[in-house]
Amino acid sequence: REDVMSNDLQPEQVILEGKLGSGQFGEVKKGVCHLVNKTVPVAVKTLKNNDPAGEKEILREATLMKRLDHQHIVRMIGVCKGESLMLVMELAELGPLKKYLEKHLEMKVWHQVEMMLQICDGMQYLESRDVVHRDLATRNVLLVTEHFAKISDFGMSRMVDSNSEYYHAHGPGRWPLMWYAPECLYYHKFDSKSDVWSFGVTLWEIMSFGARPYDRKRPQEILNFIESGNRLRKPKNCDDRLYNIMLSCWALEKGKRPTFREMKPTLDHLYKEFKITNM
Ligand code: ATP
Repeated sequence: REDVMSNDLQPEQVILEGKLGSGQFGEVKKGVCHLVNKTVPVAVKTLKNNDPAGEKEILREATLMKRLDHQHIVRMIGVCKGESLMLVMELAELGPLKKYLEKHLEMKVWHQVEMMLQICDGMQYLESRDVVHRDLATRNVLLVTEHFAKISDFGMSRMVDSNSEYYHAHGPGRWPLMWYAPECLYYHKFDSKSDVWSFGVTLWEIMSFGARPYDRKRPQEILNFIESGNRLRKPKNCDDRLYNIMLSCWALEKGKRPTFREMKPTLDHLYKEFKITNM
């Protein structure tokens, strides 16, 4: 707690304006934050009715975000104890990638791959910092501009245990099952390789313009589907090489999945190729 509080902001510094969205413990509001020599637009996670469980969660999220410093990861500006506890972050004006995809069915493939590459870059950074995100999906990728994406929502994120090399969750909670690797669902074990599985689903969402994975299948049906060796189908008009990356992310055995570091050059190559031909 001490640690987080060194990023303390005074309530007068944070001016709240409209509502951006709602989360588990409260609302996310838009606003500005007055810093020493500048005023910056911000997104502020607020807590409703000073719920102590929510406070603990916000402090946990802040402690983790504070360790992170990367261009494709939403930066935390600080924590503010006003009427209730607030987590102040830089604003990503254009909002969630999922919504953007739904509205831009004309998006070029190079633009879609540009998003993938930036997400991969941010995820490689998390991988190198021993952080598992645990909620990677297009709803949690935010756009600063049409060509600049940032990974957000560290509410589920954890440090991996340096001994066991994974994070062991105590039990299933409100989990985004459709993005989770089998070992997460069966053994509650999370590491960067389980984020890689989610990244594959995120790529699928990007190529499917924000569609819902696995249609309306129920959780058990999805598990059986995966266990029998089935995978999400290749999105319409999706390049085989992109689909092959997705399939590699969905290897049952996590050791067979690529790392983010390994995927970056492949995505970079595809990006350049599609860009040159304006695909
Ligand atoms: P969930 O229950 O979905 O995990 P949460 O409590 O973790 O929600 P977020 O998903 O982080 O909250 O935020 C909710 C919404 O607020 C997002 O969908 C997004 O629209 C908006 N939002 C969050 N952070 C930002 C930001 N930095 N810039 C712009 N919008 C943001």
